Amino acid sequence: MDKEEIEKLQQADLDCVWHPFTQMKLYGEETTVIIERGKGSWLYDIEGNAYLDGISSLWTNMHGHGKEVLDKALKAQTGLIAHSTLLGISNVPAVRFAQKLLEVAPPGLAKVFYSDSGSTAVEIALKMAFQYHRQSAQGNPRKRKFLTFVNAYHGDTIGSVSLGGIDLFHEMYRDLLFGTYKAASPYCYRCPYDQQYPGCKMDCLEVARKILDEHHDEIAAVVLEPLVQGAAGILVQPDGFVRGVRELCDRYDVFMIADEVAVGFGRTGKMFACQHEWVTPDIMCLAKGISGGYLPLAATLTTEKIFAGFLGEAVENKTFFHGHTYTGNPLACAVAIASLELFAEENIMERVQGSIALLREKLADFQHLSHVGDIRQKGLMAGIELVADKKTKENFPPGKRTGHRVIMEARKRGVIIRPLGDVIVLMPHLGMSPDELELLCRVTYEAIQTVTEKT
Ligand SMILES: *Cc1c(COP(=O)(O)O)cnc(C)c1O
Repeated sequence: MDKEEIEKLQQADLDCVWHPFTQMKLYGEETTVIIERGKGSWLYDIEGNAYLDGISSLWTNMHGHGKEVLDKALKAQTGLIAHSTLLGISNVPAVRFAQKLLEVAPPGLAKVFYSDSGSTAVEIALKMAFQYHRQSAQGNPRKRKFLTFVNAYHGDTIGSVSLGGIDLFHEMYRDLLFGTYKAASPYCYRCPYDQQYPGCKMDCLEVARKILDEHHDEIAAVVLEPLVQGAAGILVQPDGFVRGVRELCDRYDVFMIADEVAVGFGRTGKMFACQHEWVTPDIMCLAKGISGGYLPLAATLTTEKIFAGFLGEAVENKTFFHGHTYTGNPLACAVAIASLELFAEENIMERVQGSIALLREKLADFQHLSHVGDIRQKGLMAGIELVADKKTKENFPPGKRTGHRVIMEARKRGVIIRPLGDVIVLMPHLGMSPDELELLCRVTYEAIQTVTEKT
């Protein structure tokens, strides 16, 4: 692109596009990056600058950009059909992907319901649990509420925001939302019970137990981001928490909905986070990495038992009346199949263990920085929490935008990362090379150092 074309496009971006989760007044004051293409771990903008993609294009890109087998699968499918509905009829990639997905999913999950984003996958889970109890012979119509966790993030639609527990994102919409029971979630660095893990008795889980003990006859499901609350700042749960939630759900006869939108597809070092603790949820939500970061696709998986609650004659009105227009899109499913095949063919879950160890080793250095309060990692997801004072764990004033300044500093050095408040998030794709991982960590280190120690 020549200079004039570049400037026109940058101006049009400012004139026409309203960016998500972005304060547009400030966006206009910074230099814009407009991505034109990507290859492997790298993004290239219209000015020809190269950036290391340190967040897998918002946690979706599992194998790098422009992965040949995925490109090929997509092209092959475009030669057949781009879209055909899943309402009442079927299509080849949607069937094949569902079958393949169930082969790798936790045992007991038997049906795949498609949609197109993490938020919709969660909405579907909610409605399934609710409707099951309204109409199944084994259900209990009094069970119409949900138990969720503090700091939870389940998406941006009204139902999923109702389950959410991040005030910054969710408080504004309070009047639009349905109420939920809210249990404490583990945030061990700032433990609300002043305990130390390991060694604590997970008092946080005790809150969920108490609520369930009192209200289980009106609770349809517990909704959990298993192992890691991502959007809250990569809050890693102590070992046994997910299993503990499963046991509570069993004891009180409440469904467990696992929102694996962020943690699914190898992100935590196993294919699905629940598999770390041998847990099968009753409903599992998947999106983000499902198509290797290529196309919007999501899936809500459930058991034969819940599915059976929706069977009946037409007049019984037990149908699940839900379905987004692009549900089961053949292009997205074709890429998703190729992505799953890649996991097997390239032995990705074994190979990624080396990268996880390397990331752990590199992150250990960060503790020497004078404003790094906590370093959290599970698999290839990491959060580095910056604090004004390491001893008191006092935060920086939000107006200082410390996290934001750090990622802008990294951008100057050719690395794209994103903060969650003052938590710097690293989310490399599963195939990132050791050299690139090292570069990602080195630049992040320098950026934190420059912003928090030299100003
Ligand atoms: C990103 C995310 C969602 C929402 O997914 P969208 O595709 O953005 O709607 C839901 N749950 C979790 C845990 C997520 O990380």
